[in-house]
Amino acid sequence: MDDCSAHGPIPLSLDEAVSRVAQGYGAVTGTEEVPLRQALGRVLAEEVVAPVNVPPADVSAMDGWAFAAGRDVEGETFRRLGVVGRVPAGSAFAGVVAVGEAVRIFTGAPVPAGADTVAMQEDCRTDGDAVLVPTSLKRGANVRLAGEDMTAGAVVLHPGQRLRAQEVGLAAAVGRSGLTVRKRLTVVLFSTGDELREPGTPKPDHAIYDANRYTLAAQLDALGVEVRDLGILPDRPDATRAALAEAAGTADLIVTSGGVSVGEEDHVKAAVNALGSIDLWTLAIKPGKPLALGRVGDTPFLGLPGNPVSAMVTFLLVGRPLVLRLSGASGIATPRSLVVADFTFTKKPGRREFLRARLERGPDGRPVAVKFPSNSSGVLTSMVEADGLVDMPAEATAVRPGDLVDFLPFTGLFA
Ligand code: AMP
Ligand code: MG
Repeated sequence: MDDCSAHGPIPLSLDEAVSRVAQGYGAVTGTEEVPLRQALGRVLAEEVVAPVNVPPADVSAMDGWAFAAGRDVEGETFRRLGVVGRVPAGSAFAGVVAVGEAVRIFTGAPVPAGADTVAMQEDCRTDGDAVLVPTSLKRGANVRLAGEDMTAGAVVLHPGQRLRAQEVGLAAAVGRSGLTVRKRLTVVLFSTGDELREPGTPKPDHAIYDANRYTLAAQLDALGVEVRDLGILPDRPDATRAALAEAAGTADLIVTSGGVSVGEEDHVKAAVNALGSIDLWTLAIKPGKPLALGRVGDTPFLGLPGNPVSAMVTFLLVGRPLVLRLSGASGIATPRSLVVADFTFTKKPGRREFLRARLERGPDGRPVAVKFPSNSSGVLTSMVEADGLVDMPAEATAVRPGDLVDFLPFTGLFA
């Protein structure tokens, strides 16, 4: 639908934009099998079932002595057991441990038949062929039960999970050497604007260097997609349209920055409209607006604002969920946590604001957010200074020191 009428683009709340992303788009990529060492950051496309118990048997959690608990003499603090064998990790004790006997055992070794408890070596004393173990131990102490981590047949990883170090390790722990993952998303990236020049080239005074393609490419890299950087589009309708049409066939997503306002030098909207469909909005956030979502042919299209901070922030808030969605990831929500504000800020109700803030350690050790002085959407240094964004609800009018505020950490958002 085209809402860019004489009244201009309609305002859209961020929640509504994200829900349009979640509802309007699905996973676009196929699947492939990759070796485990290449699985980090990829989106899992299969259900991983543990074929084995982990641990495979009841194993010792400590270096010590294994024995059968329960037949202690009241008042005694130690029990004397005859040591009948030794079982290091990676081997098994062939016999059965009888009452009054113990087996020297090491972490990870299977608890021998007849035994059910391990006394840790720091708590024991040896005396020739015997060992004195404390009577205070509960049956099962220091024993990890078979299947305590994962039971054979259990689903341990789910399609849509993004694979971090721990998921990769888990797959290895159940014996997998490779995983079926979603193919990497290919994202075409353009900047738009006649004022833009490529870094490293000379420029006249009235021109600026293209920053957005570099922040956005880096943000896309961090999400594990394949970025195809197609450079700067001039502010010309024919060139914009031709470049978008050509890119559409080669990409899973097209991302542009700039050129989506409603000025006469903003040609992206008309070009996408001619080739597919576009919704142009004023995203009701600051920094933000304008924002375009649509398709060039069948290829999803995201048009971000040109101001460097707006481009970055709207990518974090809308582009990131879109990329994750198209990549087949199930969790697309923006990570957030609560922190204590250490600043004063007031605003009018009506528009949600994202304040650039640095995290510091407060007097009680809890993190406090310190706001960057400038709120300008053109000041990229504010993003460099910041550790994340304080999310101030639309209806809120003030933040005061000591208030709990929602914080969106860059560490979670750039991944
Ligand atoms: P626009 O949305 O095209 O009107 O751009 C809004 C503002 O962002 C203008 O001041 C542009 O010069 C600036 N801008 C647009 N694209 C970029 C870019 N790639 N790098 C740095 N600044 C940009
Ligand atoms: Mg422009």
